[in-house]
Amino acid sequence: MLNKKTVDDIQLKGKKVLVRCDFNVPMKDGVITDENRIVAALPTIKKLINDGGQVILCSHMGKPKNGPEEKFSLAPVAKRLSEHLGKEVVFANDDTVVGENAKAAVAAMNDGDVVLLQNTRFRKEETKNGEELSKELASLCEVYVNDAFGAAHRAHCSTVGVTQFVDTAVVGYLMEKEINFLGNAVDNPVRPFVAILGGSKVSDKINVINNLLNKVDTLIIGGGMAYTFMKAQGYEIGKSLLEEDKIEYAKEMMAKAEEKGVKLLLPVDNMVSKEFNNDAPFRACEGNLEADEMALDIGPKTQAMYAEALADAKTVVWNGPMGVFEMSNFAKGTVAIAEALASLKDATTIIGGGDSAAAVNQLGFGDKMSHISTGGGASLEFLEGKELPGVVAVNDK
Ligand code: ADP
Ligand code: MG
Repeated sequence: MLNKKTVDDIQLKGKKVLVRCDFNVPMKDGVITDENRIVAALPTIKKLINDGGQVILCSHMGKPKNGPEEKFSLAPVAKRLSEHLGKEVVFANDDTVVGENAKAAVAAMNDGDVVLLQNTRFRKEETKNGEELSKELASLCEVYVNDAFGAAHRAHCSTVGVTQFVDTAVVGYLMEKEINFLGNAVDNPVRPFVAILGGSKVSDKINVINNLLNKVDTLIIGGGMAYTFMKAQGYEIGKSLLEEDKIEYAKEMMAKAEEKGVKLLLPVDNMVSKEFNNDAPFRACEGNLEADEMALDIGPKTQAMYAEALADAKTVVWNGPMGVFEMSNFAKGTVAIAEALASLKDATTIIGGGDSAAAVNQLGFGDKMSHISTGGGASLEFLEGKELPGVVAVNDK
């Protein structure tokens, strides 16, 4: 369904291939704390190695604001990649990304060799899609592969600019898989199609709600964003998260759901506390909250109602936790949804969103889902119905 050329459509033997990966992994004190994105990049890299390509990898990591900084170096990624691939990954450590080390390493490559460039955001023009860095990146290669789904919603040198200066630009397996999963779900879902939206803010997901209401049979809302909706329904929500200026929007979306015949489900009970604290007393509360209480998770009745709404689902897209899952007392709603998805037979279950993916993995349900997207922002933009510039930029089939 993706009408873009992929690594399967081109000759790779003996070619210098620049691959934009998403190695933007979380790090703490120089140690990678979650290497999902590295693992997800392996199928494309292995394919290129096996086909005799000369594989030059690049990626951004974090948001270095003051130019090159050790803590944003991709050196730890090079090390883990070598271990995963069982072969040397030469780390071309240039603050200028395409500097003397990179040029020398690339010139010395044999078929099947792998080089990793330094963090592309060490160059300021990367995020401005500047021509100079785009040309320098292109000068290293004969073929360009974009496999960085997590960065595909950004028009940067390494995702878009570079494609103007290479003849052959294709997508990798991860990009293909992400787009096929999300694209099939949104445009061609096996029904019933249920979307679950949660997380902290309505404003982050306005366009997602609006777009998904055109597509789904049922829309389930939980998490912090649910309380702006409950307020719109006329409930007292105490100190719960509220976006005052989105109450009207919430009303519009409820009306839109009605008009489209979409079942829109909102919490009927919540776990509430007077403090944002896992050690404070908390209770299940139906309907109105006291003025000094805040809702930090969906309650047991809501969990049961949502599980029932999911029971016959054939396609599920889930973005955003149902509560403050980082605190054990308020993780149960998110666990209940994860369990409901894990128990589905013959359903396609897709998790998008950085915190949702972290929650599902952390709670031990990672391998029970059909697909966990590696792209937070990119998956949201996809669900909004937007075209991703990094995908648009590669060659059509
Ligand atoms: P994602 O990254 O999956 O798109 P978001 O970033 O939108 O999700 O939201 C995740 C955050 O929302 C989590 O840190 C979680 O603690 C918070 N959250 C969820 N429910 C609530 C709530 N009821 N009150 C406050 N914060 C909440
Ligand atoms: Mg988030």
